[in-house]
Amino acid sequence: YFANVPQAPADGILKLSVLSRADTNSTKVDLGVGAYRDDSGKPWVLPVVRKAEQQLAADPQANHEYLGVGGLPALTQGAQKLIFGADSEAIKQQRVYSIQTISGTGANMVAAVFLKQFKQPADAAVYISKPTWGNHRSIFETAGHVVREYRYCNYTTLGLDIQGMLDDLRAAPRGQIILLHACAHNPTGIDPTTEQWQQIADVMQERSHFPLFDCAYQGFATGDVTRDAYAIRLFVSRGFELLVAQSFAKNMGLYGERTGCLHAVTALPAVLPQVSSQLNRLSRATISTAPAYGAKIAGTVLQDAELYEEWLGSMEMMSRRIKKMRNLLRDKLVALGTPGSWDHVSQQIGMFSFTGLSKQKVDRLREEYHLYMTDDGRISVAGLNSGNIDYVAKAIDAVVRS
Ligand code: PMP
Repeated sequence: YFANVPQAPADGILKLSVLSRADTNSTKVDLGVGAYRDDSGKPWVLPVVRKAEQQLAADPQANHEYLGVGGLPALTQGAQKLIFGADSEAIKQQRVYSIQTISGTGANMVAAVFLKQFKQPADAAVYISKPTWGNHRSIFETAGHVVREYRYCNYTTLGLDIQGMLDDLRAAPRGQIILLHACAHNPTGIDPTTEQWQQIADVMQERSHFPLFDCAYQGFATGDVTRDAYAIRLFVSRGFELLVAQSFAKNMGLYGERTGCLHAVTALPAVLPQVSSQLNRLSRATISTAPAYGAKIAGTVLQDAELYEEWLGSMEMMSRRIKKMRNLLRDKLVALGTPGSWDHVSQQIGMFSFTGLSKQKVDRLREEYHLYMTDDGRISVAGLNSGNIDYVAKAIDAVVRS
């Protein structure tokens, strides 16, 4: 039986972290994994998360019972306000349903399974940006969708190919499912401007496309959760029906706790019970109930005004440190006279930078300098710090020159 199972292709990121873990050289710098690190290169537990954990530990009523099928209301209701705004008309009009998921990946998967069953037209494909997070194709193909790409990155300028994107969205048959990164695009760090988002919304409206937003970095792009939700709120205000996959992995540092939500916005309140019943059914069939611990932490932070304010400050701080590292890396490469233009490193936003380094240079950086990044030349800027940035700039300079 098992002998007939073919080998699955290796996952680039997972392969990279195995190689990095096995490398014990003292100069090693891991810019592969998309996880925040502090200025000493260590994982950072947000102070609000520690406080929420202490509150939970001190609560004599706390237990380990199952959550309900929709997840923890403190989380789903807080998460909904975070995405759509506390004064969202859609929420007030009872047009939003939010269900807890296994972080952002699980939210994408529940969306994928839901859309496979209910998409209109039934042969609609899922369009992903070129490039995108490696798991997108895998998730949507696993759920049985045909996956196509729309142009996104201009590989010459390392900026947005807005014309290519709009042309592809226009050329697609009507009613396709368009997967959009809400902010801090992974892997490129290239986001549309507010005007470009309006153009994207125009074309999607003309072509009756269905938006599926993936929001894994709210708070990381600009440091401001409201600005980072601009695109989603624009589409909601334009009257789109849509889905949003939301992760608390990065912005609350809850990576391994698998905390996230999937939100559905309907045009009419009357159809919300149909949609919520199906999302509950699919969630029940796949995970039965969502994990409780991360949800309790995030729910506590989202519902407590003081902790919430402090959390906003922590996100701002993380995004400021990343921006500082972007600018420093650009400045150092310019100071070294490294051939090429490096402005894109400081212009891109969010956790990642698409450096433009070729696969061959990436291999040399790993083999000769113990510097790890993904094959497409993406670095996690959060992995840079004052202790390693000189080394990284010099290593990039050396391989670019020879
Ligand atoms: N979407 C995107 C674009 C991502 O970059 C990530 C994290 N790498 C995710 C979703 C999901 O992450 P998680 O499942 O850890 O929330």
